[in-house]
This record gives sequence, C-alpha cells and structure tokens, in this order.
Amino acid sequence: QQNAEQQVKSEKIRVAVRVRPFLAKEIGKESVCYVSKNGKQIRVSDLSHTIEGTYDKVFPKEATQNDAYSYVADVIPNLLQGFNCTIFAYGQTGSGKTYTMFGEGYDSQLMLNKSTFDNSKTINESFMNRHHSINQVQSDSQLLSDTNKSQKRGLIPRCISELFNYIKTNGIKVTIYCSFLQIYNEKLYDLLQDTYTKNPLQIREEKLQGIYVEGLSEYVVQDDNDCLNLLKRGEKNRIKRSTKMNIKSSRSHSLFQLLLETDQVDNKGMLKRAKLNLGDLAGSEKVNKDEEMKAKHMLELRNINLSLTTLGKVIQVLSQGGTGNQQNPHVPFRESKLTRLLQDSLGGNCQTYLIATVSPLLESIEETISTLKFADRAK
Ligand code: ADP
Ligand code: MG
Repeated sequence: QQNAEQQVKSEKIRVAVRVRPFLAKEIGKESVCYVSKNGKQIRVSDLSHTIEGTYDKVFPKEATQNDAYSYVADVIPNLLQGFNCTIFAYGQTGSGKTYTMFGEGYDSQLMLNKSTFDNSKTINESFMNRHHSINQVQSDSQLLSDTNKSQKRGLIPRCISELFNYIKTNGIKVTIYCSFLQIYNEKLYDLLQDTYTKNPLQIREEKLQGIYVEGLSEYVVQDDNDCLNLLKRGEKNRIKRSTKMNIKSSRSHSLFQLLLETDQVDNKGMLKRAKLNLGDLAGSEKVNKDEEMKAKHMLELRNINLSLTTLGKVIQVLSQGGTGNQQNPHVPFRESKLTRLLQDSLGGNCQTYLIATVSPLLESIEETISTLKFADRAK
C-alpha cells in the first residue's frame, strides 16, 4: 500500500499520442505523422511545418486497441488501492477519440434481452441518499462472445472487464456505482436517464464527501454485463439527445464514471472510495464561422468550450508542480464544469492518462500540431 501510494504521488500526467489509420476513403493519401521505432517520438511534417515531440508513448497507426489498453492497464490495481484514476482522449473531431475510448463491438458481448434496469427506481435525489435508493441489479454472467468484434473494443469496455476480473480473481469486496454524463455548453446531462428533456443537473459540494452531481443516476453494477449495458444505453442517449436538442455532439464531453466503495472506514469516518473517470472530450478544433454565428445567436459565445480550455489550463498548472490540492489557488478547477467534476481526480494523489489522438492527413496538419502542443503542455 505504502509503495503504491508513493508511486502514484510522484506521478505526473502520463501523455500518449495515438495516430489513427487511414479510413477506406482515404487510402492512397500520404501520412504527415512519423513515429519513431521506440514508440516515444513523433514528427509531424510537411513543406511548411515541422514539429517533433517526445511522449510517454506514441501509438503508430498500426497500434491495436489492446496496445492502447496495455498502456493504461495499471489504473485497475491503482483504483483498487484507493487512488482516483482518469483517462481521457483529446483531439480534433475525426481523430479517433471515440474509437479509442469506446471502440466497436463491445455490445456484441452483451446478453441480449437481459432485462436490465428499472430507471425509475434508481435515480437518486442526491449523493446522500444513494444508499437507500439504489436498485440491485440481477446478474447473469453468460456472455455472448465474438472474438473478432471484441478486438475492437476500446478502453472503457476493457477497463470494465478487467476491473470485474481483478475483483473476482482477488476476492475483493467492493460496491461499484456507475454513472454517465454529458457536458454541453457548460450544462450537465444525465446519459443514463432516457428522458432527454430533463433539466441540466447541478454540481454540489458537500463537506465530507466532496463534489457530486445532484440527481445524477448511479447504478450499482454487479458484473461487466450490467456495466456494459449502461455504457450502451448512455451512448444511445448521447446520440438521441444531440438530435433532439440540436446539439453538435462533437462539441460535448462525455464522462463515464465508476465509483468503488469498500466497507473500510477512513479517518473521517467515511467509507473508503476511489473513482475511475473515463472521458471522451469535445473536439478540440477551432470554432468555425457557422458555429460562431450560431453561438452568438444563442448568447453562448462566452466560450464555445470553456471546459476544454480550462482543462488545458488545469493540467498545465498541475504539470508545473501544482498540487491539485483544493487549497491551491493556482489550479483553476472552479472555472469549468469538467474540471470541477474532476477536481478530486486530477493531480495530487491520482493517476491520469491523457491520450491525444491525431489524424495522419495533410489537411489536418494544423489541428494535429495544435493537439501535440496541448499534449506537450500536459507533460
Ligand atoms: P472522434 O471521436 O475523435 O471524432 P472517431 O473515433 O469517431 O473520432 O474516429 C473517426 C473515424 O476513424 C471513425 O470511423 C473510426 O472508426 C475511425 N478510427 C479512428 N481511430 C481508429 C483506429 N485506431 N483504427 C481504426 N479505425 C479508427
Ligand atoms: Mg467522437
């Protein structure tokens, strides 16, 4: 325990870059991204630009979903040691964030027709009454397997499977709560509530338990099937809500969270907890004229993505030695919804992975360079 603690404490944010492969329609185009053999450097270059960078890891376009998972796999044991862990994907729209985090084919594993959750019984009024309003979910461990499809599963389904594996193998007793939310234009929406007309949720802070989202659904999950079902439900709702509210989904963040609670009590008399945050961030590309006009019209131009820019500031301060401690006035956690939610999970005693995704295309080179610069500041 002591060792793990020291190890995680001295951690900075680990930063990786992943180059996506060419899509079918792009075959024949030339890549502007060159990855070194040792998998730590990338050079991006055309006639008018050249930029080089060194990262904890650079995944070339051939890298598999399993390669990406292997890189972050230590979050599972760390989480079970009590550390809050965060993995997020950052990059321009179309660079592979969703592929990296969600991937494809995880739903082919799900038990079809398995009755899952009765939504009405599981929505909490607040963090405080979680314990008597949750709905225990029936478990069924029979999975439909499809090896080929499951190779394309992304980091979130892999973390879920590995978490339950680890708990089972090591006989660990822990209660796991699952929630899934979306941040759009600094408003929070519950992705596990199928009624997408619901008002935005509010972030609250409570002395002992810290930051929580009032009214956010939190489901107790017994196995990976339960958890993957929720993931799938949330993904569907993300699409539905975007259509219904005329939201450009590339401008929203999604945050999938697992809260682990043991039966041990800490020195404040609270049950020991650890959180895993898995984020698919909004597209980092510059705002275009159309969006700008629309935003002005909707009086939303304060910042088209305050959460994304604030995240950049926060991780930059943390990388320069900010503690992430609440008392540290220099870490601007409070300036956006995303960073406020992640306040207890970034810096300090936490493990954080940033995966910067880039496109290999010449036409994306400006955005690729800007993504690499963001990734540099996080190191
Ligand atoms: P983003 O979420 O950043 O907008 P996506 O994850 O949707 O980007 O990726 C854009 C397209 O590229 C999708 O069709 C996706 O399937 C494909 N893609 C991205 N990364 C990979 C990869 N590593 N291997 C295969 N296809 C990928
Ligand atoms: Mg996406």
